[in-house]
Amino acid sequence: MVFFKKGKLNFICISDKFSLPLPLPAVKVTTAYRSSHCGQLRATEVGKEVTLSGWVRRLRKMGALIFLDLADRYGITQIVFDHTVDASLWSAAQELGREYVVQVSGQVRPREAPNPQLATGEIEVLAHSLRVLNTSEVPPFRLENETDGGEELLMRFRYLDLRRPINQQRLLLRHRMAMAVRKYLSEQGFLEIETPFLIKSTPEGARDFVVPSRLHPGQFYALPQSPQTFKQLLMVAGLDRYFQIVRCFRDEDLRADRQPEFTQIDCEMSFVDREDVLHMFEGLVRYLFQEIKGFDPGPFARLTYEEALRLYGTDKPDLRFTMTITEFKTPAGEDLFAGAGFRIAEQAPYMGGLCVEGGATLTRRQLDELIEFVKRPQIGAEGLLWCRWNTDGSTSSSMDKFFEESRRLSWLQKAGARPGDLLLFLAGEPEKTRRQLGELRLEVARKLQLRPADRFACLWITDFPLLEWDSGENRWVAMHHPFTAPLPEDLAFLEEKPGSVRANAYDIVINGAEVGGGSIRIHDEQLQKKVFRLLGFSDEEAQARFGFLMNAFRYGAPPHGGIAFGFDRLVALFAGCESIREVIAFPKNNAGRDTMINAPDSIEPRQWEELHIRPAFSNANP
Ligand code: ASP
Repeated sequence: MVFFKKGKLNFICISDKFSLPLPLPAVKVTTAYRSSHCGQLRATEVGKEVTLSGWVRRLRKMGALIFLDLADRYGITQIVFDHTVDASLWSAAQELGREYVVQVSGQVRPREAPNPQLATGEIEVLAHSLRVLNTSEVPPFRLENETDGGEELLMRFRYLDLRRPINQQRLLLRHRMAMAVRKYLSEQGFLEIETPFLIKSTPEGARDFVVPSRLHPGQFYALPQSPQTFKQLLMVAGLDRYFQIVRCFRDEDLRADRQPEFTQIDCEMSFVDREDVLHMFEGLVRYLFQEIKGFDPGPFARLTYEEALRLYGTDKPDLRFTMTITEFKTPAGEDLFAGAGFRIAEQAPYMGGLCVEGGATLTRRQLDELIEFVKRPQIGAEGLLWCRWNTDGSTSSSMDKFFEESRRLSWLQKAGARPGDLLLFLAGEPEKTRRQLGELRLEVARKLQLRPADRFACLWITDFPLLEWDSGENRWVAMHHPFTAPLPEDLAFLEEKPGSVRANAYDIVINGAEVGGGSIRIHDEQLQKKVFRLLGFSDEEAQARFGFLMNAFRYGAPPHGGIAFGFDRLVALFAGCESIREVIAFPKNNAGRDTMINAPDSIEPRQWEELHIRPAFSNANP
């Protein structure tokens, strides 16, 4: 366990010894087809007659012997066909193809050369009967962890891709996490309650998927972007504590690692304030780590939104490593670059920097790569300045023409640097430059391998702004969603200074990924109306879209709040996967398509008619 302390912040990173979930309790799978599964038999079963069913993963012929790796979800058992014992059985085994489904009966015996990599590696089964349950075409790629299939092929044959042990383990992990969530929340009094999929629009900031109504010409359902309004109605209904592991649908533009349908752990509680919610769900995440990974990550760090941006240049900082931003020049504060005629610094309202521990050893080439990195259009900086504190005590910088040793030392000291460290500076407008520093921080960490997948740093971000200005639409939009309550102490200036009102909202961030977020909700009709007005809804529009919720607030709505976790993201994090696609059984590709079933697809002319809609594109059927 490693503790970092920096100022008033405490960071915790924990090494994770286990890359895989702890094992499942033994399952009995005995049926007419099998006495045990392919991962079950051990040396203690030597001499037993057994029947196994599974897939022919590999066949090796060695003289009079044929070795068959028989595979199922539970593991692999080696089956032996011995020509000298049963020649016709041996010939039948020779006919088997990859991924044939077979039933084998035989006797367990010790292996001559045990395989320590395999749970069943001490034994093998000498076959005395073989039944082919089904044949298989030659699979289009190797069904092993190291496969030769390209992404497109793997997705098109996802049912074969899912036969690979690594993918089966991921789904097993997902299942175990879902079970652990259900157990923890049930024990805390939460009820799992289903909410409808055919609803009308929920404002989570994305586009809705809509479903035309056959029975109500010209009218549409929307699929839920989240069960937000329903879970609040469940609180009005007095259900007190709700959760649901639930599919949500958002029709967003294509972005890497976005799925149009994804799963949330959606939760809501009555009679709570923020601390109650944070306590409950920090408990859930710590429980998951303990149950699934076998360790407790300890109490979570906390940062306000403002601190996160100032120190890390992002509202989802990766705290597996410290490296905070130091400010050398701010619009209202000091300026450690003043008075030297250095134009870049003089013109920029803000200068911030990162101290790279041990970075003085970075080569010229590595520095150039970082300069190239910040100049990429996605980052958009004009250049990168640096200052090095060599281990012999001397200093140098990319601005030596303008600044002397004493000035360089003042920067290094301000950043808490030591000999051997390197400072990297960016200059510009504060908000943008902080964001660029946030990206640079991650890039440096990537280069120096400061983000190991088996370490976890969890934190809460609080005090988000309630509203953001949308310059495209020229109006305020809710940063979280319009049901989020303002912080009580900021309520007074909701109308005069809406931009500076903070929300009673929180996000949970693990290893730089936002894995969940929620808020204390508005439960007062008048305040809810006021917020809708601020967001540019007329009273009529607000009534038409969300009248059901505001009306419900008139009938004794309790104070309430909640959170939703991105379940796919959480599982991917626990599985050490980059993409959530890897932990979803049947994901869509990056273009939002399911290439296995070929969806979306056109529909029959008859269906257009029944649904009272007409295609706008000529490539749709009619
Ligand atoms: N409905 C929110 C979301 O999907 C979560 C919440 O506020 O509970 O992000």
